[in-house]
Amino acid sequence: MGDLSTGPMAGPRQHRIASVTLREVKLPLRTPFVSAAASVAEKRTILVQLETEQGIEAWGECVALEAPTYTPETVETAWLMLKDWLVPALLDLSWDHPSEVARHLASTVRGHPMARAALEMPCWDIAAQAAGLPLAKLLGGSRETVETGVAIGLGKSLEGLQEQARGALEEGYRRIRLKIQPGQDLDPVAAVRQVIGNELALAVDANGSYTLEDAEHLRQLEEFNLQMIEQPLARGLLLEHAELQRSLTIPIALDETIGSLDAARQAVGLKCAKVINVKPGRVGGLTAALEIHDLCQQAGLDLFVGGMLETGIGRAYNVALASLPGFNLPGDLSPSARYWRRDLVEPEWTMEDGLVAVPLSSPGLGIEIDLGRIESLTLRQVVLGARS
Ligand code: MG
Repeated sequence: MGDLSTGPMAGPRQHRIASVTLREVKLPLRTPFVSAAASVAEKRTILVQLETEQGIEAWGECVALEAPTYTPETVETAWLMLKDWLVPALLDLSWDHPSEVARHLASTVRGHPMARAALEMPCWDIAAQAAGLPLAKLLGGSRETVETGVAIGLGKSLEGLQEQARGALEEGYRRIRLKIQPGQDLDPVAAVRQVIGNELALAVDANGSYTLEDAEHLRQLEEFNLQMIEQPLARGLLLEHAELQRSLTIPIALDETIGSLDAARQAVGLKCAKVINVKPGRVGGLTAALEIHDLCQQAGLDLFVGGMLETGIGRAYNVALASLPGFNLPGDLSPSARYWRRDLVEPEWTMEDGLVAVPLSSPGLGIEIDLGRIESLTLRQVVLGARS
């Protein structure tokens, strides 16, 4: 973790947030995205804009979905938590290091990690700008480009899936992660493998839709040389995941189960999985994401940065995180054009040969916000703090 700490004799804290603007925006997706957890055609998302008393501005994004199908949080619960609890708590705090923000927010609100992360992550951008460092460098990143995989949602026809897989192969993606659920698993995987051959890494993501009784059935996936099977069982089933992993040669990856550093510690200790999908929003922010990175690196687990259909703002944090050395598998870091007709940032995120460039030429996030675009998509807005 980047060291910005000051000693016990240090003077006043460096940062204090003067105002927070919350905006809910709605962006149409190019094509609806369907998984065992949710179907999303339009992305409602909360954007946060922080301004410090020292005049530093930073933007963040809350990754909670509209429906409580992936994790319990929703856009509405996050809006409520931010407006009534988290923003007031942040406005009360003076801080030097963003980990202090993470601790303060976690002690103010139990649960609601995505709402907490929406404020904690831009505090990392503020710290990076103040230190004159690109965010990736402040986090400890060592890569200039990050490998990108793509998630393919549940499709109605095998031909449709094959077409998408062919497209992903041509676009240069480094891995396909195929959504599966009971009744839609062996045939889709076989169909996609047939198209991509063994050229491209293939993984599946079940979003917790199987039970331990399906173990025998899931073993039939072993013949397809899968990089991983993500979240086969429900999120709370640590012991069952450990049992399934013992009987399955395919590495299990955990996503929904890992809601915090503590959950990651338990999963590692119980040998529930060989891969962790790290989504900073799901674990309360970048402080916990970095701790999980260090834990898993020491324990020898593989890691990748997962996606939540972020706009270009959330994407910037994920790309910076994915530049850390422990993220050794391709992340869900698709370019803007995969999801949006027009993104909220300039320039838009692009991918070349399956690689996304880590912004390293300026301090902070390294993106420009398209405020006009954001304002044209805004459904509601509230300003809290000095200017309200
Ligand atoms: Mg997943």
